[in-house]
Amino acid sequence: MLLNIITPILLSLSTLAAPQKASEAPAVEVPANDALAPEDPRPGWLVPVDGLGVGMYIPEDERLVYLVRLDMAVVGKINVGSFVITSKVDDYREGLPRLGSKVDKPKKRKGHIQGRAEGRYLNYTLGHSIDARILPQVWPHVIVRDYQTGSENRRREIKYGRRNDKPMSWYRRDRHCRGCDRREHFVKGRLFSSEHHCKKCKRAEHRDWDAPQMQTVPEGALDMLSSIFVARELVINQGETLEFPLLDKDSWWDLRMTLGREANVKTAAGTFACQAVKLDPKPPEGADKRKDFKGLFGIHGTLSIWLDKASGVPVKIEGIVPLGPLDLDVSIALQSHSGAPKKFKAME
Ligand SMILES: [Zn+2]
Ligand SMILES: [Zn+2]
Repeated sequence: MLLNIITPILLSLSTLAAPQKASEAPAVEVPANDALAPEDPRPGWLVPVDGLGVGMYIPEDERLVYLVRLDMAVVGKINVGSFVITSKVDDYREGLPRLGSKVDKPKKRKGHIQGRAEGRYLNYTLGHSIDARILPQVWPHVIVRDYQTGSENRRREIKYGRRNDKPMSWYRRDRHCRGCDRREHFVKGRLFSSEHHCKKCKRAEHRDWDAPQMQTVPEGALDMLSSIFVARELVINQGETLEFPLLDKDSWWDLRMTLGREANVKTAAGTFACQAVKLDPKPPEGADKRKDFKGLFGIHGTLSIWLDKASGVPVKIEGIVPLGPLDLDVSIALQSHSGAPKKFKAME
């Protein structure tokens, strides 16, 4: 079950309480704006982020491969899987040009970030991918698909951006079907009982989408994957502490992101001059605090991301995860990379 713990470390906040409830909102379409890429010499797209002071740089075609290790008291360090972050930027094609439109608009770009964890521990298998699509428009500005496969199956989707000039999010999840007439959801009863609708299992094909929920969210909210890319820019720009709402399912956390100490970090991909960024989420004002708050991603205390100082590339992620009565160190360290910014170089 170790992988069950590792995935949430980076990919979700699924073990944590939901501090805010969704509310209804009218579904009115808002036309796309003309948000353009600012000047940046790096290939890719520097996406402006409202009110943060730094943007979110998505490399043109980057692939970062990490090794996930747990430090077990008796067993020592064990490899439990891999984690891969890929980013891509492409031209964004809009529909047919409007009649009479002669102005040559500057090119729009769209970004795609994927985080994918894969692993196996004993007979538990895991595939977990989070895809974030960043679009040059106000709604939806970002679409996040969070899918887990393997021993357990679940799907979650979030869209966010501005509608009617208000920051909003859309969320839906799947769950085990609660009862229907589809024969494929039926299972054989024991002994003499007849076939009946399956009550609970982990089969992906027994799951259905819940109705989506729309809600207004605070200004400047970001998803987890985007936040990591904001941390990259924070290191490059040596910005100050950033605070913004971190979207999680149908709720959010108040996230504080702070530049920390510097160190040379040794990995299988080489040694890199890094600086830590610490991530510290708190339940928002007035949120339900009865649930025990364990820190980010199921980690006790602080989560540190070590990023290469020159390029912002994440080199290592460290934290402590609780496993029953034990506290285990987890490290997600770079193993190989391609397409990273030119300034990303191992030390001699
Ligand atoms: Zn059913
Ligand atoms: Zn079932």
